[in-house]
Amino acid sequence: MKTTTPTHLQHEFDCIVVGAGIEGSSTAYTLAKNNKNVLLLEQFCLPHTRGSSHGQSRVTRFAYFEDHYLKMMSENFRCWDVLEKEVGKELYVKCGMLQIEHRSGKQFGRIRDLMRQKKLDFYDISSTEACRKWPCLKFNTDFNMFVDENAGVLRADRCLRAFQEMFVKFGGILKDNEQVISILPGKHVSVVTSTNKYTAKSIVITPGAWAAKILRPLGVDIPLKVVRINVCYWRVKSRNKLNDMPTFADTSNGCIYGLPSLEYPGMMKICFHGSDVEIDPDYRDVDNGDTPQKDVELLTKYVKEHFEGVESKPCIIETCMYTNTATDDPILDVHPQYPNIVIGCGFSGHGFKLAPVIGQILSQLALQQEPEFDISHNKLSCFLRNKSRL
Ligand SMILES: Cc1cc2nc3c(=O)[nH]c(=O)nc-3n(C[C@H](O)[C@H](O)[C@H](O)COP(=O)(O)OP(=O)(O)OC[C@H]3O[C@@H](n4cnc5c(N)ncnc54)[C@H](O)[C@@H]3O)c2cc1C
Repeated sequence: MKTTTPTHLQHEFDCIVVGAGIEGSSTAYTLAKNNKNVLLLEQFCLPHTRGSSHGQSRVTRFAYFEDHYLKMMSENFRCWDVLEKEVGKELYVKCGMLQIEHRSGKQFGRIRDLMRQKKLDFYDISSTEACRKWPCLKFNTDFNMFVDENAGVLRADRCLRAFQEMFVKFGGILKDNEQVISILPGKHVSVVTSTNKYTAKSIVITPGAWAAKILRPLGVDIPLKVVRINVCYWRVKSRNKLNDMPTFADTSNGCIYGLPSLEYPGMMKICFHGSDVEIDPDYRDVDNGDTPQKDVELLTKYVKEHFEGVESKPCIIETCMYTNTATDDPILDVHPQYPNIVIGCGFSGHGFKLAPVIGQILSQLALQQEPEFDISHNKLSCFLRNKSRL
């Protein structure tokens, strides 16, 4: 990633954004597009795989139970389309999502009702028909299914780069390999990094799994749970069996989801949504060998049972992190004492698809404007552990 440093802009900014993951990059892009003078700081050399926004694919769909997220989704789809045109690269692949659940499950009916109530495009399909259409599937008639037609895959890495490229094009300054060490509140916020010092009228803190480490010195103590996620890829023995597979989500037992071959030729991504392996993001990959791989065992059994022509042992396991809040709602708010310090964290494993709107909300907060979307569920006060310190 090329970084630029015009000398006249070197130390004083309208806004500094900490963390160039998808949320920080989207926020920086939105501010720069609105003619703000913005610095985006990233601790690692870009591109990197140490946070939560790397990899080639993320699922997106409209189906949120909560109205406030559902409302955000139309705008998200619109914005991904705008970004796609700005960079001239495909960012979204509309391939649909097959929703699957054993008839004893509790989620399927709710999700299908939601699709119907909200007039979202879907069609029912029997498991027999689905297995005929996508011959890699092996489900008996105990399973209910429908296809969510507007769902698909965001090309994650391209989306991230697109925000960063357009940010720089709109005049923003992106500095990677520069870690924020401390943030000093004030009318103008001062930021000390590993190599420099800057000031800005406001700051947006979007550090992903490092949020607790950065926010604690500012008196904000949020119980965030950082967990390690195994991202498993499975070799498809006969590629013709993939046959235009949509993404899928099976909510029979927790949530297992999968994506058609995209990252690596001839391999499907099939993962468990969630984990209870709590980690320190600075030691994400350090494992003493005593961490049970419950999810991989579950997935192995699942693939053996429900996939035809797919090896029942993952051939690649990569690592990523979820930063979870107690309610799975992200935190989007200003610091209780310093209105020019904005916080965006805790995206709880579903923040990628929301990133364009998150960028709008956080940039409006940074400019001390009222966000256009309902963020009453995302207020810091809903999550704080120790309110008395503030
Ligand atoms: C395996 C996996 C699958 C997922 N699937 C989906 C999906 O299908 N759909 C969906 O919507 N979402 C999905 N998500 C969730 C989504 O990817 C995350 O919610 C999102 O990427 C979080 O972005 P972020 O910007 O908050 O964090 P990050 O991407 O981690 O970015 C934070 C950045 O801040 C930097 N940083 C931290 N501290 C400092 C510092 N002191 N100084 C400078 N920089 C700093 C970090 O290095 C990092 O680059 C998935 C996540 C994972 C892990």
